[in-house]
Amino acid sequence: MAGISLGTRLRNLFTVEKLSEGFFDDLEDLLIEGDLGAKSVIEIIGKLKSKMKTQKVKSESDFITILRDYLSDNIVSGSYEPELEELNIVLVLGVNGVGKTTSIAKLATYLKNEYGIESILSAGDTFRAAAIDQLIFHGNKLGMRVVHQQHGADPGAVIYDTIDSALSRGDKMIIADTAGRMHNKDNLVKELKKIDKIICNKIPENRYKKILVIDATTGQNGLRQAESFHEAVGLDGIILAKYDSSSKGGVVVSICRDLKVPVLFLGTGETYSDLVKFDKELFLNNLLGSK
Ligand code: GDP
Repeated sequence: MAGISLGTRLRNLFTVEKLSEGFFDDLEDLLIEGDLGAKSVIEIIGKLKSKMKTQKVKSESDFITILRDYLSDNIVSGSYEPELEELNIVLVLGVNGVGKTTSIAKLATYLKNEYGIESILSAGDTFRAAAIDQLIFHGNKLGMRVVHQQHGADPGAVIYDTIDSALSRGDKMIIADTAGRMHNKDNLVKELKKIDKIICNKIPENRYKKILVIDATTGQNGLRQAESFHEAVGLDGIILAKYDSSSKGGVVVSICRDLKVPVLFLGTGETYSDLVKFDKELFLNNLLGSK
């Protein structure tokens, strides 16, 4: 069934099996495969069962409408708007390999195109030497300044220096990288909390955003990652990277439902311009097919 969209499979299931014993089991399997997460799937099935009892689900479009309404009620969309007269900072979080560094470069490109502001990139992942090199590589390609120190340096100090430098030069935007992995999870959480405190002492809340990058292809792992980072520092938004893969990003349903953190952007490819603002209706069309 690979390659057939979730929407088509759901419609087929309804047409063929709606009155059969196995309908709800097969529906549950399809929704779980679509990364909607167990709690959401149980709720959706509960809603359908009660509507079917009262005969309100007569056609496949009634069925898709119920699903769509549920998803629409649960998915939280948001936008990122910097304050153009003052210094803003975005702290970018995420485990290694999700597309964090690439998303930083894409976000810098987006902010330049949308608002005409140059970003300073802050190499706060000092745990991996390659992460610093990668950020410098993107900065050079984009013609943007990268503040960095050596591998193993204190990330809090790197970000502190970046803020001081930006304030003295009158810069408006810092996008800061963070480690995605350390020797153990407790170290990472401790380090992120320390960075968060340093930033909070220097930049007011409304100009400081913590954005998590999630890889659309990792399914419900994305929810677990979001829970950990949200618990550690409190998230303001999500970038769903690799949305151009075969995954249609059902994981954001559970993230939004459980954590109420808005989705801000989708990563749609590997080039710097492949970052688009999240649009809930388009997202639902891609997940379920048009109305
Ligand atoms: P990091 O370890 O989280 O910093 O991950 P990287 O930014 O280095 O990205 C890991 C890989 O994913 C690289 O090959 C990127 O080109 C690729 N990647 C990142 N974002 C996207 C995306 O939106 N779509 C696709 N297709 N690939 C992406």
